[in-house]
Amino acid sequence: MKTVKKAIIESSQADKNLITALEKANIKYEISDQNPPTKSYRQGKQNLHFTAKKGDVMDTCATISNKYICCNVKVIKSVSNCPFDCSYCFLQNYLNDGNSKVVNDIDAMIDEVQENCKKEPDRLFRIGTWELGDSLAFEKETKQAELLIEKFKHIPNAVLELKTKSNIVDPILKCDHQQKTVVSWSLNTNYIIETQEHKTARLHERIEAINKVTKAGYLVGLHFDPTIIHPNWEEEYTQLIKAVCNNTNPSQIAWISLGSLRFNPEMKKKIESNFPTTSITYNEMVLGDDGKVRYPKPTRIKMYRHVIKQLEKHLNCSNLSPLLPPEKNKPLFYFCMERWDIWETFFEESPKSINELDYLFAKNMYHRFYSEILTSPKLKNYN
Ligand code: SF4
Repeated sequence: MKTVKKAIIESSQADKNLITALEKANIKYEISDQNPPTKSYRQGKQNLHFTAKKGDVMDTCATISNKYICCNVKVIKSVSNCPFDCSYCFLQNYLNDGNSKVVNDIDAMIDEVQENCKKEPDRLFRIGTWELGDSLAFEKETKQAELLIEKFKHIPNAVLELKTKSNIVDPILKCDHQQKTVVSWSLNTNYIIETQEHKTARLHERIEAINKVTKAGYLVGLHFDPTIIHPNWEEEYTQLIKAVCNNTNPSQIAWISLGSLRFNPEMKKKIESNFPTTSITYNEMVLGDDGKVRYPKPTRIKMYRHVIKQLEKHLNCSNLSPLLPPEKNKPLFYFCMERWDIWETFFEESPKSINELDYLFAKNMYHRFYSEILTSPKLKNYN
């Protein structure tokens, strides 16, 4: 499916390679330095603006909150808006200007990343490109992921995370990634993909893509987030986890996250207006400390218990706690935006802080993949 109807290129970015790629992809383009008129998040999905880097692009994931055990992942804001159309997407409430944009100047972004990584050489930075969009949805038009993969292999203390709901992996299969990139998927049941994750790759397409990147030797990330209550959800999550685990190797899964549906209360009306047939707002939800509504704790625990049980079964692992010593075939498991009490429902103890969870990631990656390029991580370097 062609995602972009028209490209607009800032004159400083209009190089021959980009223009040839757009012509090859049969995408109309225009070179212009004028700010395009502000568009709604849906109208803005059709055009893609190639811009220079403006200001800093590297930051910490915006949802970080001291009230939760967050993972402290870093982001580079290299893309804004997304051609897909998920009913629960926070972008419908977040983007003031829906024009889709990609930062075309990879070298300028990498200079900033390298500078930040050099300042703290004794820590591992996990850096994603998905904060305001999807890391691979525009790959055919931009080649952004391909270029970033090439650059990240030269940054010893950084790992790139490309998170997607697409199956656009063919352009990156031949990259010399040296396992310095984790290609990860946001995964949900067939029912949720068919009813809520419009225009994304269907479940069988995502699973085929997971299989392809596994065979290409990449590290893989799995995000079962947002888990959503729906008819027959237990059986559907069982089938999902079984299919995913059958198509990758536990020894290549870098990390697995688990989280539940959550959104700002004011987003409920937008979801109901943008997606009149959706039923995701029907279930009871309660307001959390971060100002978002989510399912009540007993409901979340019931869902998490089921998913964790299936993961342990299909990964052949007796305890997913990230506080246990790293093992080759055991991915690092974490909850996204949950508190100590949820962690302690499932494991003997919880990471004591955001910093400790960040350190546990580094320890796991060091022992499983990076012992030759990193020094052994120390907790004090994550404070
Ligand atoms: S894939 Fe992510 S960014 Fe794109 S519409 Fe869905 S939730 Fe939003």
